[in-house]
Order: sequence, then structure tokens, then C-alpha cells
Amino acid sequence: MRVNAYAAPAAGLPLAPTTVERRAVGPNDVLIAIRYVGICHSDIHTVRGEWGPQPFPVVPGHEIVGTVVEVGSDVTRHRPGDRVGVGCLVNSCGRCAPCLGGDEQYCARGPVFTYAFTDHDGTITQGGYSTHIVVDAHFVLSVPDSLDPAAAAPLLCAGITTYAPLRRWGAGPGKRVAVVGLGGLGHMAVKIAHALGAEVTVLSQSLKKQEDGRRLGADHYHATADPATFTELAGRFDLIVNTVSAEVDVNAYLGLLTVGGVLASVGAAPGPLVVDGFLLSSAGRVLAGSMIGGIALTQEMLDFCAEHGIGADIEVISADQVNEAYERVLASDVRYRFVIDTATIG
Ligand SMILES: [Zn+2]
Ligand SMILES: [Zn+2]
Repeated sequence: MRVNAYAAPAAGLPLAPTTVERRAVGPNDVLIAIRYVGICHSDIHTVRGEWGPQPFPVVPGHEIVGTVVEVGSDVTRHRPGDRVGVGCLVNSCGRCAPCLGGDEQYCARGPVFTYAFTDHDGTITQGGYSTHIVVDAHFVLSVPDSLDPAAAAPLLCAGITTYAPLRRWGAGPGKRVAVVGLGGLGHMAVKIAHALGAEVTVLSQSLKKQEDGRRLGADHYHATADPATFTELAGRFDLIVNTVSAEVDVNAYLGLLTVGGVLASVGAAPGPLVVDGFLLSSAGRVLAGSMIGGIALTQEMLDFCAEHGIGADIEVISADQVNEAYERVLASDVRYRFVIDTATIG
């Protein structure tokens, strides 16, 4: 079926209305009418060609919330009318050790991402800036009805991206957690770490968003532009979640970790890191990475957010505002996530 969408026709060109083909609903598939889709920084990197050549036209969008329209004959977990979500993943091999262990995002054959990726059937995936999508039921999440559907959309990427390292490295009562960067990812990390019961510190470039940080659940707030921050907080944190994708001074942050503390980066700054080995070994510190999260953990995160009343702080826009929204994301002029109302697509 042809469905309306917004796509980038080529690298760096503005997004424009178009149509894309969605496959017929197979036995394991779910057809979803998309209601809201978040704008993630990855969308912008991808359509601007900053992450290498892409199979244009590209329909971005991997923070999808909608309603089930139709399910295939073998689908039991979802029914028409259910509120559901789709995040960054739409397929994986399902047989390798990471897949069997619930880490589909690290599939040995290669995970299939929601847009601009070649699926196992050879077709190119097209994302959620669109009215409908067909997705294998395994990758379709249940979005609890108590969550506001627009505010829930960013949970599918920003939420799970930050929930995964917080859970893996034991954020909770009695733990001091720092969040580096207070953007789309960082604001989710603060909300989730606070709800998990940790003592939360925001490390942001300036004190500009301090009031927001406290409102979101931070106990402390420090400016990283101030060198005193790094002496004052030396050895303090059990876990630092770095949400900044630009290069940061890893060694400066390692110095803020307590014995056995973990610096987990969720951003993707490619290229080599220069790490001071002494900072690691002298206090048994851990330097870790993390990329989104598996499907079971994503469902756990959605249920956790529903239980704690957590959604993203959002600004809902119409599809024709998407190019302007991209400029504002790049200027850090959004608190904290744009969400497209897909009723305005086509
Ligand atoms: Zn994303
Ligand atoms: Zn696999």
C-alpha cells in the first residue's frame, strides 16, 4: 500500500511530502496507523548525510506511537485498536546469542533499523514520518493507555537509550548518578534516574537550564564550563551517563567517578578515544558504551514510565514545520523533544 510520508529527497535537502510503499501485512506483521512521531537527532544526522551515504529518499522517524489497524494471522500479542510503539529496531536475525539474550540491537547479523536500512527481504526501511507502517510483531511495543501518546513517542528512542545504561549499571537508591548534557536524551535520563531513586546531578555546559533540571528531578546541577566543577566533584559518582554525542573530555569525567564507578556513553562520537589508563586502573573504573536497548527492556521501560507517570517534555508540531524544527534542534532551541502530529502528513 502507498502511504503519505515526509522524506528527504537527497542529502541536505529539506524534507517534503511524498508517498512510500508499505508491504502487505504478513502472518507475523502488524499494520500501525501512526499518531505521533518524535524528532531524534539521528534523523537529522542521517538526512544530512553526516553518517555516510544514505538510500534516498529517506523517511526518518523512530519514535513512533500509533494504533494497531490490522494484524497477521500468527500475531497474538497485539490486536486492532491497541496503542503501540515502534522504536529504532524493526528486525534482527532472532537466532544469534545477542538476539536470544534480548539484545536485538546488537544482533550478530546486524540489526535492521527503522529507516534507511536494508531489511532481510532486500527492501529499504522507511521510518515514522508517515501515516502508516508495517512492522514484525516482535518489534512492536505495547504503550500503556495511561501514558500521553505524544509524550510517549520519544520514550521509544530517547527513553530506552537512557534507561538501558541506568538499569544495567544499577542506578537506584543510594547511588549517585550524573547526567552529562540536558537535551532530548539528557532530560529523559534525569527523569528516569530520579524515578529509579538515585541522587541525580546534571552536568551541563552552563547553568542556563538549571531550573528545568531541578524540575525534571535533578538534585544538583553544575556547569562543565567551570573548571571548578571537576575539582569539586572529583571521585563523587557511581555512574555517569554521557548523552553528549560531540567529543567530550573522557578523562575529565573518569576523574569524577568513585571506586568502581562507570562512565557510560550513549552518544556516538566516532573515532579513537584517548583514555588515561591510570584513571581507569587506579580506581577500578569502567568505561562503557550503550546503544538503544532490546525489545524486552524497551517494554520494561514503557511500563516503568507508565507506573511513574513519565513522558518526554515535548513540543507538538505539524509535519510542514519539520524543517524549521530541525534548525531549532541544531540550535538546542527545544525543551526537549519535537513530536510531529502525523494527522498533518498529506
Ligand atoms: Zn533516536
Ligand atoms: Zn541476531
